[in-house]
Amino acid sequence: GGADIQCDMLVLGAGPGGYSAAFRSADLGMNTVLVEKYATLGGVCLNVGCIPSKALLHVAAVIDETAMMAAHGVTFAKPEIDIDKLRAYKDKVIKKMTTGLAGMAKSRKVNVVQGVGQFLSPNHLEVTAADGSKKTVQFQKAIIAAGSAVVNLPFVPQDPRIVDSTGALELRQVPKRMLVIGGGIIGLEMATVYSTLGARIDVVEMMDGLMQGADRDLVKVWQKYNEKRFDKIMLKTKTVGVEALPEGIKVSFESAAEGVAAPEPQLYDLVLVAVGRSPNGRKIAADKAGVAVNERGFIPVDAQMRTNVPHIFAIGDIVGQPMLAHKAVHEAHVAAEAAQGEKSYFDARVIPSVAYTDPEVAWVGLTEDEAKAKGIKLEKGLFPWAASGRAVANGRDEGFTKLLFDAETHRIVGGGIVGTHAGDMIGEIALAIEMGADAVDIGKTIHPHPTLGESIGMAAEAFEGVCTDLP
Ligand code: FAD
Repeated sequence: GGADIQCDMLVLGAGPGGYSAAFRSADLGMNTVLVEKYATLGGVCLNVGCIPSKALLHVAAVIDETAMMAAHGVTFAKPEIDIDKLRAYKDKVIKKMTTGLAGMAKSRKVNVVQGVGQFLSPNHLEVTAADGSKKTVQFQKAIIAAGSAVVNLPFVPQDPRIVDSTGALELRQVPKRMLVIGGGIIGLEMATVYSTLGARIDVVEMMDGLMQGADRDLVKVWQKYNEKRFDKIMLKTKTVGVEALPEGIKVSFESAAEGVAAPEPQLYDLVLVAVGRSPNGRKIAADKAGVAVNERGFIPVDAQMRTNVPHIFAIGDIVGQPMLAHKAVHEAHVAAEAAQGEKSYFDARVIPSVAYTDPEVAWVGLTEDEAKAKGIKLEKGLFPWAASGRAVANGRDEGFTKLLFDAETHRIVGGGIVGTHAGDMIGEIALAIEMGADAVDIGKTIHPHPTLGESIGMAAEAFEGVCTDLP
C-alpha cells in the first residue's frame, strides 16, 4: 500500500546481471521492474567496459595488422587517425547494443524506472530521479545487481589528465607519454589501444607480474611479443605520489622489492589509474532491507544467489570475484529461476578469463600456479603455434595452447591459450571441463583444419603421446 509502483520482481541495476535477471524474470511470468540510474541499459559492460573497449581494440588490431603487411609485400599508407570519428564509431557500437536492450525490455514489458535506488524496507525501494523527484516501488522479490565502481588511489588529485577506465574510453586525446597504473586486464587493454594510436607508454604494477591469475608461461609470450610496444614495464613498483603540474603529471615510485632502487619520478601527459574495482554494496541502503554486506562491500549469497533475506537475491560484481560479465549473466538466470521457485543453482565448475590484448591471453579452470600451491598433481599437453599451419599462415605463430589434466584420471581440469583469437577459443576448454572430458575425448574430437582451434585437439594428442601429421 502507498507505493507508486507495485511488482512481483524488482531488479536493481541494469548491467549484464540486471538486464539478464529482469528478462528471465519477465519470461517466467513475473511482473518486473528494472531500476537503473543511467539513461541507458547495459551497465558498466556495455557503456564503459567490455564493449567500448573491444570496439577500440578491434580498430587497434587492424592498424597493427596492416602495419605488419609491409613485410609480406603489401604497403599501406601511414594511418591517419581522426580521433573524433573513432570516438563516434565506439559510441555507435554502444548505442546499437543499448538500444537493442531497450527494445528487448519493452517487448517483455519490463518496466524500466530511471533513478538511483535505495532500499527503504525489505519490500520497498525508493527511486530518486535526476530531477530529484522520488518514487516508491513495492516488491515481492528482488535481485540486487548494482555492480561495482572503480577504485581510486587516495593520493591522486583531480585533473583532466588523470583518468580511470571510463575516462580512458572517452578517448579525448592521444597523449605523447602515458602511464598506466595497474598491469591487470583493463589497464593492459587500454595500454594496447593507446599505444597503437601513438602514445608512448609506461606500465607500473605493484605485484611481480602482469595479468595476475594467469599462468606465467602465457604472460611471458605476451610480454615478449610486446617488448617494443611499451617504453617501460615496471614490476614490483609502487606508485606513491601523483602531482598535477602545469608541464605534466609528475609521478613518483617506490620499489616494492627489498634493496632495489626506485625508478626516477616521471612526467606524463596522461595517467590511467586501473588498480581494480570495488563492489557497490554499501551504496544502496541494503541494511534497511536487512541484507548483509561484508566489510569489503560484497553481498554474501548462497548457491541460488540468495542473500540472508530469503526473498532478496544478489548477482554479478556485487557478490564477488571474478568480476566478469559472463559470470553475472549466469548468476542472473539462476536468481530469477530460484525466485520463481525453480531448483536452479549456480554450479559452474569454471569461469574463463580473457585479456583481449595483442596477442590475447585466455585461461580457464585450474592453473599450474594454483595446482602447485594446492599440491595437486597435474600433467600437461602443450601445442606450440609454431607448428600450426594456420598460425604460421597468419604470420602470428608466437602463441601456444596448453591443456592441464588430472595426473590420475587424465580428465581436463584447466587450460590456457596465448595467441590471436585465444578468447574466442577458450570456451571449448570450459565445455570440456564441464563435461568431464579426458585427453582422449578431446584428442579424438575432429577439429577442422587448418584452424587455430585445432590446437586444442593437438594439445590433447600431444599429451596422449600421439604424433600428429597435420601441422
Ligand atoms: P554493472 O555492469 O556494474 O551494472 C550495475 C548497474 O547498476 C550500473 O548500470 C549502475 O549504474 C547501476 N546501479 C548501481 N547502483 C545503483 C542504484 N543505487 N540505483 C540505480 N542503479 C544503480 N567483463 C567481461 O566479462 N569481459 C570484458 O571484456 C570486460 N571488459 C571490461 C572493461 C572495462 C574497462 C571494465 C571497467 C570492465 C570490464 N569488464 C569485463 C567487467 C564487466 O563490465 C563487469 O563484470 C560487469 O559489467 C558486471 O555486471 P553487473 O551487472 O554485475 O554490474
